[in-house]
Amino acid sequence: MLPERTDMPAERVDMGGYTLIENASLANRNTLRVAARAKLLAEIRDATKLPELLDFPAVRNGRLLVLGEGSNMLFTGDFDGTVLAMETRGVHAEALATSGVQVESDGDSARIAIAAGERWDDFVRWTLGQGYAGLENLILIPGTVGAAPIQNIGAYGCEVAEFIESVEAWDIRERRVVTLDHATCAFGYRDSLFKHEPGRYIVTAVRFVLPRSRPLRTDYAGINEQLARMGVDKPAPFHVAEAVVHLRTSKLPDPMVIGNAGSFFKNPIIDAALADALKREHPGLAVWPQPDGRCKISAAWMIEAAGFKGVREGDAGISNRHALVLVNHGKASGPELWALAQRVIAGVEAKFGVRLEPEPVVIGAV
Ligand SMILES: Cc1cc2nc3c(=O)[nH]c(=O)nc-3n(C[C@H](O)[C@H](O)[C@H](O)COP(=O)(O)OP(=O)(O)OC[C@H]3O[C@@H](n4cnc5c(N)ncnc54)[C@H](O)[C@@H]3O)c2cc1C
Repeated sequence: MLPERTDMPAERVDMGGYTLIENASLANRNTLRVAARAKLLAEIRDATKLPELLDFPAVRNGRLLVLGEGSNMLFTGDFDGTVLAMETRGVHAEALATSGVQVESDGDSARIAIAAGERWDDFVRWTLGQGYAGLENLILIPGTVGAAPIQNIGAYGCEVAEFIESVEAWDIRERRVVTLDHATCAFGYRDSLFKHEPGRYIVTAVRFVLPRSRPLRTDYAGINEQLARMGVDKPAPFHVAEAVVHLRTSKLPDPMVIGNAGSFFKNPIIDAALADALKREHPGLAVWPQPDGRCKISAAWMIEAAGFKGVREGDAGISNRHALVLVNHGKASGPELWALAQRVIAGVEAKFGVRLEPEPVVIGAV
């Protein structure tokens, strides 16, 4: 399949810095546990090799997909191109230190640059262990560091953008390494520049600025109550992290146990007048005013009110623990999961006149 270079591999070949695998299974590379294949998979261990890899005509002229842990993706078919799996992982501080972390500290805060392939949760725990604050509410989110800026991951009242100084990426269009500062990244709710220019950037590193201390965000979704149950009245960041771990594990299904991609639907952001009207008609609907005057409304509440929480069609389902979570009970295919998601979208739109958007990236032909 790669005829232009006679020394290119037939099946699985270590190219030094990256490994190429033809016709690779992606079933264990997405947390919805959907069966799918990539025409070519490149496991990237050294980002400086990207230009070489991208220069192979079969790669350059075909479709590209960057993959982290596949925790925010639904494959509805095979990928007829090259999947670039970012894989520079490390679990402990020592491992992190030898696989891409640089720290410059002035005592009160640290600037930390970390390779894209590191696991996000390992990084959060490492920062807490080093005594830095900021990422405690974002603990236990699956995925890689490189994917965190793509949808500006957020949880429990915090978004990662607040701590990102810049993002380093390989710009496929310009064919060079670029450093995109915070403003250029255009972060929004589950949104960024990277979503608006899909396929242009391969994030290779993210630079964070983390303080030693900051006001903690504990007034969100039961954190204060959990801290009280833990007997903590003067919380430190690691207490907040512990509370969030407890809350997340009690609410969200574990992808190691049942396939899912976390929240499958975004909370819609709508005009305040429409939100008022909906609230009058449905007093139970949670409405959160936004800084721009619009309102975010609860997708979970609407999905439950439309009767979808806990539904199951074959092995595709909506979690009975959390209405935002699409689950694979076993052998659901990508198209089956996507069909159920579309039924939820249609059902909510019919009842509330609001169209839900999927949060994960939906890949492949349906
Ligand atoms: C149980 C569970 C809970 C979750 N909870 C949350 C939550 O609380 N908040 C939240 O925001 N999200 C949550 N998610 C979603 C997911 O964890 C995040 O979106 C995460 O950042 C995805 O990381 P990933 O490495 O798996 O990315 P992938 O799913 O592999 O990729 C996601 C997107 O990012 C792109 N991408 C990945 N890496 C790069 C890179 N290096 N360069 C360029 N593009 C790249 C991909 O092409 C794709 O478009 C949850 C998911 C699960 C399964």
